[in-house]
Amino acid sequence: MIVEQIWTGNAYRNFNYLIACPESGEALAIDPLDHKKCLGRARDKGWQITQVLNTHEHPDHTGGNGAMIEATGAKLLAHANAQRSIKGMDVALNAGDVVKVGKTVELLALDTPGHTMAHVCLLSQTETPALFCGDTLFNAGAGNCHGGGHPDELYQTFASQLDQLPENTLVYPGHDYITNNLAFTLDREPDNEAAAALLKELEANHDPDAALVTSMAQEKEINTFFRLTSRTVIDRLREAFPDLPDEPTPHEVFLKLRELRNSW
Ligand SMILES: [Zn+2]
Ligand SMILES: [Zn+2]
Repeated sequence: MIVEQIWTGNAYRNFNYLIACPESGEALAIDPLDHKKCLGRARDKGWQITQVLNTHEHPDHTGGNGAMIEATGAKLLAHANAQRSIKGMDVALNAGDVVKVGKTVELLALDTPGHTMAHVCLLSQTETPALFCGDTLFNAGAGNCHGGGHPDELYQTFASQLDQLPENTLVYPGHDYITNNLAFTLDREPDNEAAAALLKELEANHDPDAALVTSMAQEKEINTFFRLTSRTVIDRLREAFPDLPDEPTPHEVFLKLRELRNSW
């Protein structure tokens, strides 16, 4: 499996992806908003884009579908529940479906509601797994829920699916939000040394064209939405929410963090 992360450089800071089979040269494009950049990259590599996958229905993820499909004849894949919101779907994905790219690549579809209620992530079936997570999980952050999602569902997705992934899973999100997200982690957990060191490093040389790819192990250190039992996180939250119990559940902590992040 070959992964190309394509930085759009737009105001929304989207990342687009191409996933290619090294044997056949067939490729799948994830959320190819910048269809020109995606097509150009595929041409440079000698790849044929045969499938387009939308992680979810938001226009900054689906906006390139028309031009991309017109140029390539690719099939369009998305969550089964997105049939009404995403025009021209060819393949409706359910949890556990396997998306094949060429001869060698297999991607497991995960049903990951929360950011929207029709969101899929893809998990590569490779020795080092790679997670293409759209707007569900960001580097050092979590998706918002005000575009058709729900924070309870997002928590369930984090706790029951993302938290269970192998520690070496690589994280490929739909946006470049890492520096902002690290600042939020540090606002919530000022003594988080891993987050502080990484933010310092990125402030010196952050290049979204050659972005840092984190692992799940690293996310558990720097992403406040995985640090729900940290004493500092809980104590700081109780300053903002005095009603929060001394030993809140991870679910309660997640919801309060998500609420604070909305206005942060
Ligand atoms: Zn979105
Ligand atoms: Zn987005």
